[in-house]
Amino acid sequence: MLNCKDVSKLLSESLDRKLPFWTRVRLWMHLGMCRLCWGFRRDLMHIHRETRQHADEIERDVHEAEGKLSEESRERMKRLLAPPQS
Ligand SMILES: [Zn+2]
Repeated sequence: MLNCKDVSKLLSESLDRKLPFWTRVRLWMHLGMCRLCWGFRRDLMHIHRETRQHADEIERDVHEAEGKLSEESRERMKRLLAPPQS
């Protein structure tokens, strides 16, 4: 039987990788009867979601920045390729 320490470790691990089937079964068996770990899991999932949301926002900002950058380089290219003004 898993103890609370094992469960908290496995829960953190489960965010990064899929746990083997029987590990998940044992995890859920513990969660079913341990309110402490159930609460821990809820908090962990909440934090994880928030972090993910934040990461999405950062990624969006980076994409926007990239868009601006390429627009700028396009302009520069156009100027370079344009025939010299007489
Ligand atoms: Zn527990």
